[in-house]
Amino acid sequence: MSEWFNETLHNGYHQGFEVAEVLFENKTDHQHLVIFESTSFGRVMALDGIIQTTERDEFIYHEMLAHVPLFAHGQAKDVLIIGGGDGGLLREVLKHQNVERAVQVEIDQAVIDMCVKYLPNHSAGAYDNPRAEIVINDGIEYVKTTDRQFDIILSDSTDPIGPGEVLFTSPFYEGIKRCLKPGGIFAAQNGVAFMQPDEVSTTNKRLSPLFTDTGFYSAPVPTYIGGLMTFAWASDNAAARQTALATLEQRYQDSGIQTRYYNPALHQGSFALPQYLVDSLS
Ligand code: SAM
Repeated sequence: MSEWFNETLHNGYHQGFEVAEVLFENKTDHQHLVIFESTSFGRVMALDGIIQTTERDEFIYHEMLAHVPLFAHGQAKDVLIIGGGDGGLLREVLKHQNVERAVQVEIDQAVIDMCVKYLPNHSAGAYDNPRAEIVINDGIEYVKTTDRQFDIILSDSTDPIGPGEVLFTSPFYEGIKRCLKPGGIFAAQNGVAFMQPDEVSTTNKRLSPLFTDTGFYSAPVPTYIGGLMTFAWASDNAAARQTALATLEQRYQDSGIQTRYYNPALHQGSFALPQYLVDSLS
């Protein structure tokens, strides 16, 4: 009889992974952490019963959260990552050679340590990169108190349950606003809209009073079940979200970055949203 891990994010609907081997399971200071070898998606990490990332499909999410803001901006030097303990986002951000400093503020050191040990392909050495700076802190405290400024801020948090809840609040977004350089861009994981529709409308209500240009883009990440994973976008530079395809193509080509999901055409297309989402945002 094989063992299965059943996700507990949604009531009455869940995904299950057949477990080949549990590699780590424990309660950290902040959340329940499990990493297991699955028979279908490689190694999988879950926090508080919610799937965070899998070896098989993480590239889709991390490429889209990193490269859409970074190629839209075009000359980002200072990047701030909130959360992202598995290191996949840091790996993708550091592929941009014009990024001089990537500061990652993660609340749970145990997630970083266990992911380096059991999910090494996620960070793939990014934590040892001299351009990376790791801060163990609550993301909301950091953005409220730091005197540093960033071209790009990316929130790669858990869902708004437990320690991640504060990262979807107005005080957090006000903190983002104070840490962004002129022309800076904020992007954040914002849940699967079909399953968590309130997350998108709530984020929109909280971001739009603070920034001149807000919106969402999306990507289908198989293990974020139930439809399109949405990413929130906010900037006072309205042109960034409208960056021309030819410009994106030139920047992508000049970067020499190899991707498996992201490309400039898909970048542009990802801002087109299903009508039910458009209606919920009007
Ligand atoms: N890609 C995943 C998703 O979309 O659900 C998120 C991956 S990453 C593992 C989420 C990270 O956010 C975890 O490492 C967790 O410890 C961190 N986190 C949660 N709340 C936080 C907070 N308030 N400040 C900083 N990091 C936080």
